[in-house]
Amino acid sequence: MERVETHSAEETYEFGKKIGQSAQAGEVYTLIGDLGAGKTIFTQGVAAGLGITEPVNSPTFTILQIYDGGRLPFYHFDVYRIGDAAEMDEIGYEEYFYGDGVCLVEWANLIGELIPPRHKRVTIEKDLTQGFDYRRITLEACGET
Ligand code: ADP
Ligand code: MG
Repeated sequence: MERVETHSAEETYEFGKKIGQSAQAGEVYTLIGDLGAGKTIFTQGVAAGLGITEPVNSPTFTILQIYDGGRLPFYHFDVYRIGDAAEMDEIGYEEYFYGDGVCLVEWANLIGELIPPRHKRVTIEKDLTQGFDYRRITLEACGET
């Protein structure tokens, strides 16, 4: 487990970038955190760390955004608006979750049963007693024996 505390969006971006630089093919990152926690900022950092120069935004109306311009394919899922797991089937999510790129899933808790047992969980939490821009980011390797 790794834990960092950030005090600005830039610091969260930089932490994501560090993760992206060392990310390996086949990894699935899940992002847990409330609206406005910093999941998309973190994701933008990961993309930069993978060498992606295209702008990365939260795909509000598309569940999956694919970026091929980096060191590895990057599959950015934001499942906030997903109705049910059948929508994930339509996308063919398994091809990505069990593929050779790096997957990152915002709001992964909404599709918990589809997430591969082996994944990296990133939790972003606020603590207003520490200030408005404070975030605690926890990285855990799940399902590794
Ligand atoms: P989410 O995708 O989790 O809904 P976003 O990444 O879109 O959240 O937005 C996070 C917001 O919080 C941005 O407006 C960002 O500037 C702000 N913010 C303030 N402090 C931080 C921090 N330490 N880390 C990340 N974002 C921060
Ligand atoms: Mg977001």
